[in-house]
Amino acid sequence: MIYLDNNATTKPFPEVVEAMTEFMTSRFWNASSAYGQLDGLEEVVESAKAAIRRLSGVAPEDEVIFTSGATESNAWAVTEGVRKAMGSGWVLSSQIEHPSVRETLEHFQEQGGVAVRWIPVTRDGAFDLGELMALIDSNLRFVSLVFAHNETGVIQPLREAAAAIRERSPGCLIHTDATQAIGKIPISFSNDLSEVDLISFSGHKFHGPKGTGGLIIRNRVLIQPMIRGGGQQNDLRSGTLNVPAIAGISVAADKCWELLQKKRHESVRAVRDHFEERICSFFTDALILGRQAPRLPNTSFFGIPGTDADDLVLALAAKEIAVSKGSACSAQSIEPSKTASLMGYNYDETSSLIRLSASNSTTSDEVCLLVDKLQELCANATSVVWT
Ligand code: PMP
Repeated sequence: MIYLDNNATTKPFPEVVEAMTEFMTSRFWNASSAYGQLDGLEEVVESAKAAIRRLSGVAPEDEVIFTSGATESNAWAVTEGVRKAMGSGWVLSSQIEHPSVRETLEHFQEQGGVAVRWIPVTRDGAFDLGELMALIDSNLRFVSLVFAHNETGVIQPLREAAAAIRERSPGCLIHTDATQAIGKIPISFSNDLSEVDLISFSGHKFHGPKGTGGLIIRNRVLIQPMIRGGGQQNDLRSGTLNVPAIAGISVAADKCWELLQKKRHESVRAVRDHFEERICSFFTDALILGRQAPRLPNTSFFGIPGTDADDLVLALAAKEIAVSKGSACSAQSIEPSKTASLMGYNYDETSSLIRLSASNSTTSDEVCLLVDKLQELCANATSVVWT
């Protein structure tokens, strides 16, 4: 299988599996037990936090709380933000958030407890900074904005937005869903995004295990736990620590950091760019969303007008090439990408969109093979529905 769907999930590094196996076999202890502590499990958790801090460029005093993944982290951040905005405050988010942010906010909006304003997206795939600037006032209590979009890969103008928000509403809680960015590009929240208070991340997007991620809590903000009980993780997220997964995410974070130091993301970008040049030279009317915007180096959201992405994705899977129609969460739906239609693309265009998302080990040969297969499939009109 040529796997080109790394924004959906990544293959764990072998070292991740090895580390996890150790903590599922010989060192399976409960981290809170006396013998677990004697065996150094607390240190395992602490070094995982340090690995996450280094990968995301946050300070040693910033708290890392492990959760079951970015969906939970987003739900937690949003729940807390809504609590802060209840009454006279309001909440700001964008129309292109991941469903775990959008639907949680919509849920609270429907309950009638909070006012939410949704920033639209531009043709380039970034939230509209001008609209955002025009809206900010001192009653803004919570902001949730994605760092890099899961379908287009477009890196959002978060830095400018966060600085303006902090200036005009100093007490506003600022959250970002950095799930698609952490591990893929060099990031330093301390240098560039000091205003951001809460950061969601997910292990399985950077070659760690599924079902593990976290919320980074910065700037000494105080938030309420969402899951209460045993008091683990400073009483902020109860539940027996998933030590195997935490050990796995730790190794994945260290490995990704090393790859970023070696500028591996630039090789990934070269492979992605090579793919885009090739697809545009074979299909002169090919669409590439957000091509002019700052983007994750591994992502290409492209379409060949007149084709149907559902058919192509299936036909490619039959040829052992894994790509997707868009985000894994909406890939089951027959509707084309909502984000693309919000960006102003029409139904025929959005129906043709396919997402390629490479990893550190994706080769030029693999993406060239994808172009060859697309050419073959499109030349054979019987295997593709031409609209
Ligand atoms: N946010 C974004 C931007 C994502 O791409 C995803 C994964 N599709 C999530 C949140 C949810 O992450 P998890 O699978 O860890 O719950």
